[in-house]
Amino acid sequence: MARKQDQSSWYAEPKPPEVCVLCGREAPNLTDHHLVPKSQGRRQGVRLGDIPTVKMCPACQGYLSKTFSNAELANELNTVEAILAREEVQKFVKWVQKQPLSKGVRVH
Ligand SMILES: [Zn+2]
Repeated sequence: MARKQDQSSWYAEPKPPEVCVLCGREAPNLTDHHLVPKSQGRRQGVRLGDIPTVKMCPACQGYLSKTFSNAELANELNTVEAILAREEVQKFVKWVQKQPLSKGVRVH
């Protein structure tokens, strides 16, 4: 009996989809968000490689950088929990979750 050629990768673990830490959407173009802005990290003597990063979609990242200063982000909003604790962030996240991923989101 010939060995069956099985090309299917049944053994491969399906990769869990990466989602934005703020809005939880499976955005195809997630970026690494540095929890401490790079310029602030340098000022505080933190090596770039030591700054924790999280996956974030461009909409959420854009919102953060437009809404908060680098100093605020570095000192007060340097964890996902702290960011999500902000009322204005919660409002934005609720709104952005209703936006289609294909559509570029404009943040003001
Ligand atoms: Zn997001």
